Amino acid sequence: QAKAAAERDAISYHAGMETGALQKKRLEAALREAIEREELSLVYQPIVRAADLQVTHVEALLRWNSPTLGFVSPGEFVPVAEETGLIHELGRFVVRRACTDLADWPGLKVSVNVSPAQLRDPNFANDLVAITRRHGSAPGRFTLELTEGLLVRNPTIAKRKLARLKALGFSLSLDDFGTGFSSIGYLRQFPFDALKIDRSFVADLGANPTANALIQSMVALGDAMDIEVVAEGVETGEQLRLLRLLRCEYLQGYHIAKPLKVADLGALFERLGGERRLILEGGSGDG
Ligand code: C2E
Ligand code: MG
Ligand code: MG
Ligand code: MG
Repeated sequence: QAKAAAERDAISYHAGMETGALQKKRLEAALREAIEREELSLVYQPIVRAADLQVTHVEALLRWNSPTLGFVSPGEFVPVAEETGLIHELGRFVVRRACTDLADWPGLKVSVNVSPAQLRDPNFANDLVAITRRHGSAPGRFTLELTEGLLVRNPTIAKRKLARLKALGFSLSLDDFGTGFSSIGYLRQFPFDALKIDRSFVADLGANPTANALIQSMVALGDAMDIEVVAEGVETGEQLRLLRLLRCEYLQGYHIAKPLKVADLGALFERLGGERRLILEGGSGDG
């Protein structure tokens, strides 16, 4: 009896493993086709200045609507793309599509996420510049969002690559700040223009006094380094209020605006007029 159960468990465990590997293979194949068949698109989430809620940037976020798999989140397919090398093609797609989607608003800056694997590609910087030029845009319009992991593995090379990207005109932003392990002194070596406080800290605001102190120290760090500080994942009016109190300069999150299809972004800008200042329900538009 026990032996049969053990065997059954062993089989189902093994089958589970196989399913995992198989699922990844399927996902890889489907993703390869998705790129060819243009099943991928971008949504754009506004980033606003806290003081007046003017939309200064949008962050481009990948969306995949697969005819066979349905909506697949970037949390699922980006890691597969990284492992299989498809990320390079995805990365070029993102910049190309952002250039064409946002051509009507040349003054609007756009942030794109960049995986560590992309930065390791020796053609990365040149490809990006070429794409922006080909579409009548320029690197100056783009902020590249990078994560800490990238800096830790090979800081010397990372420093050189980031310096080159800066020299070409790109802005650099440190994404998900606070979730890694790098020290303040360590970060100072890298030429970032902005840091984005990870949404886990924002989520704890108000509920947990340490979160307020941590955000305060991140804002102070940004001031000391003379770089911009963006809070991610602002979901409530109370978080917005506290982030303003803590002098966080830029905000992003569902309470401010959801990621929008380009048509909806256009409709929003139409409504807001030239200043592009958001009006939030509850009237927290002016600080
Ligand atoms: P990220 O760069 O930190 O992007 C922010 C994520 O938080 C997005 O999830 C966004 O939809 C979500 N978000 C925005 N506001 C809120 C909020 O108020 N509350 C909560 N809970 N979430 C919020 P998304 O679009 O699912 O993307 C997840 C991650 O996938 C991104 O995290 C980024 O690391 C990666 N990703 C997305 N697009 C790309 C891409 O084009 N290239 C690469 N390499 N990675 C991408
Ligand atoms: Mg990001
Ligand atoms: Mg982030
Ligand atoms: Mg985050």
